[in-house]
Amino acid sequence: MVHPGQLLKENKLYAGKELGQNFLANPGTARMIVEKTGISEQTRVMEIGSGLGALTIPIARIASHVTAVEKDSRLIPLLQKALETEALENVTVINQDVLTLDINALAKDKKLVVIGNLPYNISSQILFRLVEERHCIEEAFLMFQKELANRIIAPPGGRAYSRLSAVVQYAAAVHFVATIGPASFFPRPEVDSTILNFKFYKTRSFNQEQEKMLFDVIKAAFSKRRKSLKNAMVGGGEFDFKKDFVVQALELAGIDDTRRAETLTVEEFKALTRAVWETS
Ligand code: SAM
Repeated sequence: MVHPGQLLKENKLYAGKELGQNFLANPGTARMIVEKTGISEQTRVMEIGSGLGALTIPIARIASHVTAVEKDSRLIPLLQKALETEALENVTVINQDVLTLDINALAKDKKLVVIGNLPYNISSQILFRLVEERHCIEEAFLMFQKELANRIIAPPGGRAYSRLSAVVQYAAAVHFVATIGPASFFPRPEVDSTILNFKFYKTRSFNQEQEKMLFDVIKAAFSKRRKSLKNAMVGGGEFDFKKDFVVQALELAGIDDTRRAETLTVEEFKALTRAVWETS
């Protein structure tokens, strides 16, 4: 593996902050990450943000097929050249923003395993999108800035528990995989990175419409997180909840209306959504 700093310099390119470009510069770390995913020759992978191929190449040596999604068109020829050098023919490179990609169309009849060293500036957006598209995803292994990873896995009751934690924990069992220090990247980030594994639940508690309501209830509840639920939820979501309605729904769900969003478990958010559903 040519060091990304050298490769970029030779091609008169630079790592773009706006695209969250911190490339893996340590092949041992890349191999370790791929080993931890447990992919096999039967696995179809979608990789988010392939960059110069640090993960794409070790993934493609194992998986049956890899769709490598990369937004930065400057990197595509370098990625394709690296794949050619390695004689890897099971990779489809797509030069597109992953946020607008039709993930369902990639899955065909077999669910995907999603892997990515994510651009840190849109990591949350990507995760929300994967939750929306999870019917075609088996599991995901994603690298985040450590602080964001801690928020994703945070249990209720503390300041780290957020809208993202509640939505993700509703949709998947989330496990810590590894922490990677700044020295493994070029350019070096200022903070540690954490890899998390998301195993999406196969059974669903809600249909699509109810799920939309659940996500809106969570959004509204966290919209003013220092306030009690009865005040926070008013006007905080798309559904434009009114105060009397919120108080009634909280009562029906058996939730004290002076509690704050960060104290509610996912099960309580589900109960509240059922109550909202019945009340409306
Ligand atoms: N996988 C490579 C590695 O580990 O060395 C690169 C990881 S780097 C942290 C994130 C990559 O995501 C960059 O190559 C960047 O250009 C790409 N990227 C940024 N925004 C993207 C988007 N919206 N869709 C797809 N790729 C994106």
